[in-house]
Amino acid sequence: MTDSPSRPARPPRAESREAVELHGIRARHPELAGAVDLHLELLELQRRIQVRVPLPTLDLSSAVLQQHAANASPLLRFEDIPLDLTDLRLMVRQTADVLRRFGALEEPDYVKAQAAGRDMNLTAMAARWYRSAGERQLAAAGSQPPPAAASSDSDMLQQVLALAMRPFLSRCAEVLQQRPELSLWTHAHCALCAGEPDFAVITPSAERHLICSRCALRWKFESLTCPYCRNSNRARITSFATTDGQYRVYACDVCHRYLKAYDGRRASRPVMPMVDNVATLPLDAAAMQRGYTS
Ligand SMILES: [Zn+2]
Ligand SMILES: [Zn+2]
Repeated sequence: MTDSPSRPARPPRAESREAVELHGIRARHPELAGAVDLHLELLELQRRIQVRVPLPTLDLSSAVLQQHAANASPLLRFEDIPLDLTDLRLMVRQTADVLRRFGALEEPDYVKAQAAGRDMNLTAMAARWYRSAGERQLAAAGSQPPPAAASSDSDMLQQVLALAMRPFLSRCAEVLQQRPELSLWTHAHCALCAGEPDFAVITPSAERHLICSRCALRWKFESLTCPYCRNSNRARITSFATTDGQYRVYACDVCHRYLKAYDGRRASRPVMPMVDNVATLPLDAAAMQRGYTS
């Protein structure tokens, strides 16, 4: 460390824009207070780690990007993630703490997550979780048999790992997001990590960009094609907006999944996936009432 001993004490950190927005949601929708508080804590955990994560060294030359786009293969190998094991362990344990405190993790699952956070094999677990998305994409494309019971790690552990890996993966996404060749990517899964989109944004020029559930990379995708089953029959896509016009739901009448989008055409701020996911919890209820699943 080269910190000068005379460095002044750090001033209290300004709230991030996401935190300001989350507080706004809580003030307008007291019924969402629990979800807001949970996400404020997750956000702070991720922010604390993310500032320490170095940018990855990736070969993102035009030729490499073109080749991956043509093969629909994700760019980031697990080995290239700038993963610090001490920080990953901390993220797993603290994420589990937060989830338990808000009742999102049962005691036996909490104990398992804490054990995973101390396990010597945590890197191997993270690798299995990371690679499972790419394997699912290959299986969906028919070029590989489906992964045999993808992994023995429970759904709960997968969820904790997804949250714990986010600071590392989103740093990698920052690098790819800058590249103009990203526009070559026309697939429904993430160009960086092969993750599924779980949110979208409608740009001022009325394009729809999908947002990766794992690394938050954004990429353009046809507006009325279902990213989960590729159904592009408009008559079988149900789309509806919130009364304030801020959000839109695209629901597929073939696979019955739905995707929420932030409508950036008349927005005063950019999309913030974590914030917008909380703000649209009532939309999830509406979509599920109509028989769709996330
Ligand atoms: Zn991704
Ligand atoms: Zn579908």
